[in-house]
Amino acid sequence: MNGSLREFIEHLPILDVHEHHLPEIILQREVNLLQLFQQSYAGWAQVRPYCLPSELRDSDPMLAATGPTTWEALAPFLDRSGSNSFVRNLVQAIVELHGSGEPEITRDNWQALDDAVRAAHRRPEWQHELLNKARIATVITDPYNDPLLDVRPALGANYRSVMRINSLALGWHSDSRDHNGNSAHELLKRVGLGAGSFDEYLAAVEQLVAGMASRGQVALKNALAYDRDMNFDEPDEQLARAAWGKAAPTPMEQKAFGDFMLDHLCRMAAARDLPVQIHLGTGIIRGSHPLGVAGLIERHPRTRFLLMHLAYPWSRDLLGMAFVYRNIWLDLTWSFLLSPSHFKLALHEAIEVLPNESRMMLGGDNWHVEETYGAMRTARRLITAVLEEKLAEGYFSRATAERLARRMLHDNARDFFKLV
Ligand SMILES: [Zn+2]
Repeated sequence: MNGSLREFIEHLPILDVHEHHLPEIILQREVNLLQLFQQSYAGWAQVRPYCLPSELRDSDPMLAATGPTTWEALAPFLDRSGSNSFVRNLVQAIVELHGSGEPEITRDNWQALDDAVRAAHRRPEWQHELLNKARIATVITDPYNDPLLDVRPALGANYRSVMRINSLALGWHSDSRDHNGNSAHELLKRVGLGAGSFDEYLAAVEQLVAGMASRGQVALKNALAYDRDMNFDEPDEQLARAAWGKAAPTPMEQKAFGDFMLDHLCRMAAARDLPVQIHLGTGIIRGSHPLGVAGLIERHPRTRFLLMHLAYPWSRDLLGMAFVYRNIWLDLTWSFLLSPSHFKLALHEAIEVLPNESRMMLGGDNWHVEETYGAMRTARRLITAVLEEKLAEGYFSRATAERLARRMLHDNARDFFKLV
């Protein structure tokens, strides 16, 4: 075989199954170096941008306005958090894309980098050029601030989106909102629907799901790990109905309502062959263990679940589940940004444990394309390292390694989301 495995993997196209490319960020023409840090996971190293149940926030810091870049504003990311993996990924991408050979962002070169970032983003072609450079063919984005957005007119024909279901699982009252501020009743109103009763609500949600294809939406996305615990128990219909119409149902009624809605959505997903993405791990960490969704997965054997982030830090529990339940696929997104070392360990095990080669896919999970570029470069490097180790051990042949890489980076996602 000609060429190295590294070169082979570097040239593979990627079908990116998870980003937060939002039109209001991606289409902005005034973007500076500081903003790339604040609206990235490097920003999460400074402030966790979501609340725990014991906390409150006024607005989403990821979407807040950024001031001009100064060394004082950059220093907390680069000096205080300089060893963090999110920061490493972003710094490496920025100096490669906007720098002139320096390995780090320093007091001496930050102004030149800031100028280069701002000049690049003023060019409307920048995002597409960068996706091409990263060999990303298609992007599935999660515009969490607008769950009904058809991204294709705004971001291009190579984009699809997912529909966040958080607000639907919390929609017991017209005033109830998810952690992103979305209201189920407002979403229904936008498409000419309404619900005066619990049964009308169930029917209206069914209509929302029926409209997904017309909006270029290819999956349901459950990010409730940022709103509640992920223990989706056997639904108690009576208790779920008791939540309806109340501004402040009891915690038990709220949970029953969400559990009932999840079953309703998973039934619809099976009937329409729509995948269900689920965020697992971190979030409200006391309730985000992957085994919390095991009951839901068992009750819906015909629903295809895409479980995210290797459920960090519970990747081994997730792999055990993916061996037992054959309606589970794994979205490796974010896990390789959180911890490259853990990702390599978990990928070795995943290759060995998963029942077939169709199960893994990946995304970037980012707001700006620079971070996406870095995420994909990191992913290719780590996947290459693991496959090279497998080859060195004699675990499988070069042909198997190449086939698996092509499937992980592209073909599995194409088949899973039925994209042609
Ligand atoms: Zn995400």
